[in-house]
Amino acid sequence: MDIQPLGSLARTHTCGQLTSAAVGQDVVLLGWVHRVRDLGALVFFDIRDRHGLTQIVAREDAPSLVSDAKHLRPEHVVAVIGRVERRAPEAINPKIKTGDVEVVAREIRLLNEAKTPPFPINEDTTVSEDTRLRYRYMDLRRARMQHNLILRHKAALEIRRYFDENGFLEIETPILTKSTPEGARDYLVPSRVHPGEFYALPQSPQIFKQILMISGMDRYVQIVKCFRDEDLRADRQPEFTQVDLEIAFATEDLVFSILEPLMGRLMALIGRDAPRPFLRMAYADAITKYGSDKPDLRAGMELRTLSEPFASSNFSVFKNAIATGEEVRGFVIPKGARYSRKELDTLAEDAKQLGAAGLVWARAADAGVQSPALKAAGEDVIRRALELAGAGGGDLLVMAAGPHDATSRILGQLRLQIAKRENLLDPNAYAFLWVVDFPMFEWLDDERRWEFMHHPFTSPLEADAALLESDPGRARARAYDLVLNGSEIGGGSIRIHDQRLQRLVFKLLGMTEEEAKLRFGFFLEALEYGTPPHGGIALGLDRIVAILAGEQSIREVIAFPKTAQAVDLMAGAPSTVNPKQLRELHLKID
Ligand code: ASP
Repeated sequence: MDIQPLGSLARTHTCGQLTSAAVGQDVVLLGWVHRVRDLGALVFFDIRDRHGLTQIVAREDAPSLVSDAKHLRPEHVVAVIGRVERRAPEAINPKIKTGDVEVVAREIRLLNEAKTPPFPINEDTTVSEDTRLRYRYMDLRRARMQHNLILRHKAALEIRRYFDENGFLEIETPILTKSTPEGARDYLVPSRVHPGEFYALPQSPQIFKQILMISGMDRYVQIVKCFRDEDLRADRQPEFTQVDLEIAFATEDLVFSILEPLMGRLMALIGRDAPRPFLRMAYADAITKYGSDKPDLRAGMELRTLSEPFASSNFSVFKNAIATGEEVRGFVIPKGARYSRKELDTLAEDAKQLGAAGLVWARAADAGVQSPALKAAGEDVIRRALELAGAGGGDLLVMAAGPHDATSRILGQLRLQIAKRENLLDPNAYAFLWVVDFPMFEWLDDERRWEFMHHPFTSPLEADAALLESDPGRARARAYDLVLNGSEIGGGSIRIHDQRLQRLVFKLLGMTEEEAKLRFGFFLEALEYGTPPHGGIALGLDRIVAILAGEQSIREVIAFPKTAQAVDLMAGAPSTVNPKQLRELHLKID
C-alpha cells in the first residue's frame, strides 16, 4: 500500500465522537491504527486519536480494500472514508463512547507509516520509565498520558478563570533576570554582549511580584516556569511550574480565603470537594503531633509525649534520657497488637534506619501487658504509658527516647511508613491543611550562620519582631504552607514591606550592606517608594495535577520531564556546545 497525500481531505468527526445517532452518515476519520484483527475475508481495525477509538471494518464487498487493510500496522497514520453502521448486538462495546457503531470503509488512505513502536501503545506497558522518556512522543499517545495532559490543561484553565473572576491580573515576569533566592542554586546564562556577566533564571518571580505590588497592580497571578538547580532528588524537576500570586494589603486570612475556594474548584474537576475552612496548625504543633511540617492527616496515629510514667521508673534507657532533658515519645498503631515477633523486629530495624537509638513496643494482651521493657519498668508503668497514649486492646504502642524534635521526626517517618504498609492512607480522601507560624530561620551548623526558612522577604510575626536580634532561632515567621495528603502543594508568606526591617533581615542572614546592595539594591530602593503591606503564595502546579490525576510522580503530568538525574532523555539535554559558541560567550571549560 503506497503512502498517499492527505489532499484536501478534512475530518468530519473525531475518533471518539460517533454514536448510533450518526448511523447512515458518510464520515471521514483521521488517526492512528490502534489494533488490527484480520479475519480473512474481513478485517477489523481500530483507529485512534486523542478523543477516542472507532472501529473500522473492511469487508469482502470491496476486495482491494480488504487487502489494503491487511497491510495496516499499529501506529500507521490513516484516513478512513466510510459509512457509519450499527454494530451487531454481540459486537457492542459498552466501555467506549463509540461502542455501538462501526464505520464500514469505502476508502482507506495510508498517510504515513510507523516503525515498530518501542512499546505497545494499545495496552498497559511495563517498559522502563527511561524508555518511555526516550520515546516520549510515543508515550504521550497512551490514553493515561493523554488524560493527564488534558486534566492539566483543564486545571490551568480553571485557575485562570478563577483568578480573573477575583480581580487578578496575569502579568509575565522575566526569565533572564537576577538571582531570586529560594534556597537553591541558580541556573546561570552567560551574556554574550557583556563579557563575564550572567543572567540567572528565576527560582521564582518573588521580587518581581513584590515590585508589582509596589506598582499598584494590586492582585497578580502567573502560571510560570521556575528553575532551581538542586541536588538530585527523586521527584524534583529542575524546571517546574508554579501558580504564583501576590496580593496588596494581604493578611493570612485574606490569602487563605482566596486559596480555599480555588482548591474546591480544582477538586471539582475530579468530582471531589474540599470542605472548608481548611484546618490550620502551627509548625511547632505539626512537629509535636506528626513529626513533620507536612503531615498526612489521613493516617491518624498522633505522636504523644510519654515521659511521665518512665521518669521515676527503673527502665534506665528511658529514665536516663528523661534526666538529661530528653523525652519519651510514641504513637499507637491501631490493631498492631497482632504483629509477630518478626514484624516487631522489622519495626525496630526501620526505626534504627531512620536514626532512632532503639524502639520499645508495648501492648495489652489477654495474658496481661507485654513489652520488652516490662521487667525493668514494671506493669504499672507500661499500663500508664498505654493509657496515656490511648492504646486499646488490639493496639500496639511504639516508643523512642531522645531530643523532642529529632525523636518526633523519626517517629513521624516511621508513622508514615506504617500507614503506607497498613493501607491507612485512603486514596479517595483529600486532607487539606495550612501549616502556619514557621520559624524565621534555621541554623546551618557547618556554615555557622542563620539561613531563611522560607525566603528572605518573609515578615516575622509582629509579636516576635523583637526576637529577631535577641534570639533569632525563636522568631516565628508569617509564613504558611498548604499541605494536601502529606505533600506541600504551596507555600507563601506575608512579606516585609518596611525597608529597614528588610535590611535587618539581610544582615541577620550574614549579608554585608555592600552585598545586600549588590544583590538586592534595586529592590531595597523600590521598597522606599510607598510599599503597601502585601503577601502571597505559590502553588506547585505539577504536584497538584499529579494528585488530581492519582499519579505518584510529577513526571506523569509533565509533557517533557527530565529524569531524576536532570536529563532530558529524548532531546539529549544537557549537551556539549561547540567551541565557537563558547568563544562567543567568553567561556572556557575547565
Ligand atoms: N516565592 C515563593 C516560592 O517560590 C512563594 C511565595 O512566597 O509566594 O516558594
